Amino acid sequence: MNPETIAAQAAHQPDPATGAVAPPIYLSTTFERDPDGDYSRGFVYSRSDNPNRHSLENLLALLEGGDSGEAVAAAFASGSAAAGAVFQALAPGDHIIAPDDCYHGIAHLLRQVFAPWGLRTSFVDMTDADNVRHAVQPNTRMIWVETPSNPQLKITDIAKMASIAQSAGALCVCDNTWGTPVLQRPLALGADMVVHSTTKYLGGHEDVTGGAVVSAADTDLFQRIRLIQNLHGAVPSPFDCWLTLRGIRTLHVRMPAHCANAGRIARFLHDHPNVAAVHYPGLPDHPGHAVAAGQMADFGGMLSFQVAGGKDAAMRVAANVRLFVRATSLGGTQSLIEHRASIEGPDSATPDDLLRVSVGLEHPDDLIADLAHALD
Ligand code: PLP
Repeated sequence: MNPETIAAQAAHQPDPATGAVAPPIYLSTTFERDPDGDYSRGFVYSRSDNPNRHSLENLLALLEGGDSGEAVAAAFASGSAAAGAVFQALAPGDHIIAPDDCYHGIAHLLRQVFAPWGLRTSFVDMTDADNVRHAVQPNTRMIWVETPSNPQLKITDIAKMASIAQSAGALCVCDNTWGTPVLQRPLALGADMVVHSTTKYLGGHEDVTGGAVVSAADTDLFQRIRLIQNLHGAVPSPFDCWLTLRGIRTLHVRMPAHCANAGRIARFLHDHPNVAAVHYPGLPDHPGHAVAAGQMADFGGMLSFQVAGGKDAAMRVAANVRLFVRATSLGGTQSLIEHRASIEGPDSATPDDLLRVSVGLEHPDDLIADLAHALD
């Protein structure tokens, strides 16, 4: 079956008891045992599993893993909790290679939580695979990929990273939050696991926080992630899962519209005299354009640009938009604009003239008129 069909129906059958077409929200925290003490209906306690979470995990495994049916997924209360569970499934003393440009929260998690715990991380520019090869150490257990990267839209060749990981006896894990399974399927390119902040495009409406890990197979490491999910309990509520499932029903319709709008805005910015640089992999002069064209179905709804005149000029552009909302996060229906360096904090490596844009589903002419006004 095609992924559009699976997503539109959220892999859901009408409720056999009532015929309800939309799934009910199962608020029950606990589930009845059989007279013999068994749990033949599969659910015990909502932290361990819940029908809404079960449906969400099943759908994510299908969308990222495809037809093989071997992929498995675990849903978390946020993308950061999902990433944290992956790191914690490793052992103190293990080494990770991570991108020099990635979501700053993940970099902080590695530096501030997992470094003291004993995990060693080398942050490298993954746009050149040789940098990654040279960073491999005897104890390297994971190559963490984020492509396109947040916020500079660097493109990493996922298949190359998977192959380097395999030769090193390590795992390749890809944060596919910006790509979504509609645009990019890391497991099909050889990655072992995918991580999502479902807060973004999968939820899609700026109203639910969540995360997920999808593994190509039910490995020992994935079982450890399940254990952490259950014992730490950073799980999404039934309503969170329900909202995320509801968002995914329209994912395949929303993503092409995000991409088309972002492409038009990128071209507009590219030709604007007050813009010093545009970072969007769909532009033919983007250094990662060819790799992105090879591994993505389209170039995504995220872009960033640097304003001529430096930080103050960038802040003025952000101050003068009327339609874009000045806010963090991404992947929803409304377009957002953000001065990244100031939210990332003093150790940010992001240029301070850079604005990140999450292109929403408004009419592109209106968005371009708003940017034109703010830039002029
Ligand atoms: N990964 C990427 C690429 C992100 O952009 C974000 C958040 O912006 C996260 C992970 C973290 O997700 P969450 O905010 O749901 O914890």
